[in-house]
Amino acid sequence: MAAEVGGSLDEAVAIVAGWPGVVERLLAAHVAGPDGRCAVCGGNGRPAPLWPCSVAELAGAARRLRG
Ligand SMILES: [Zn+2]
Repeated sequence: MAAEVGGSLDEAVAIVAGWPGVVERLLAAHVAGPDGRCAVCGGNGRPAPLWPCSVAELAGAARRLRG
């Protein structure tokens, strides 16, 4: 049986939305730096993604879901 990947992001958002404090911590950490890139993503030789990074987008969606 093939794995269904569609909707996995929505599931992740719903899961994160249910973790007290996690969304707030993620949103506080994943902010844009002076170059417009995420301040904490990247590293290990990889360039940081332009903000909002995928984590910031996920946390923002979780906060909106929570209302
Ligand atoms: Zn980030």
